[in-house]
Amino acid sequence: MKWHHLPKESLNKMVNQSSKIIDKVSELSEQNLYACYQCGRCSAGCPAVPLMDTLPNQVIRFLQLGMLDDALQTNTIWICASCFTCTVRCPKGVDLAKVMEALRQIILRKNEDYTEVKGISEEEMSILPQIALVSNFRKQTA
Ligand code: SF4
Ligand code: SF4
Repeated sequence: MKWHHLPKESLNKMVNQSSKIIDKVSELSEQNLYACYQCGRCSAGCPAVPLMDTLPNQVIRFLQLGMLDDALQTNTIWICASCFTCTVRCPKGVDLAKVMEALRQIILRKNEDYTEVKGISEEEMSILPQIALVSNFRKQTA
C-alpha cells in the first residue's frame, strides 16, 4: 500500500511518531534537523566516509523520516570522529557532529556498550595504542 492510500489516522500516527523522534534528537543535539535539505556537502567532506555503512546526510534523512532505529543501527554514528568538518561545511548551520553524539547517547543511556571490552584479544590489546583504547572506551561504552 502506498502512503497516500493509508487511512488518515495511520498517516497522522506516522507523522506524530516521526515528530517525536525528531524532537528527542533535536533536544539532545540542540540542532534543527528540519533545516537539513540533503545537499550532501557534509558527506562529501567527511574523511571517515570510506569506513561508514551509511552516509552522514542519510543518517539525518532517516531521522527526518522518523526511522530512528535505522539511524541507530548504522556504524556511521560510531565511526564519526567528531572532527567537525561537516559542521563547518553545512550551508544550513546543522552541527552534524552533535547529532551523531546525540544518537550515541541514546544507545549508551540504555547501558548498551557498542564495544565489548571482553571481545578484544590480548594480542590486540598489546598492539593497539593505549590512547586509542581509552578514547574508544570513553566514546563507545556506557
Ligand atoms: S551539509 Fe547540512 S544541509 Fe547539507 S546534507 Fe549535510 S546536514 Fe544536510
Ligand atoms: S564530524 Fe563525523 S560525520 Fe562530520 S565530517 Fe567528521 S567524522 Fe564525518
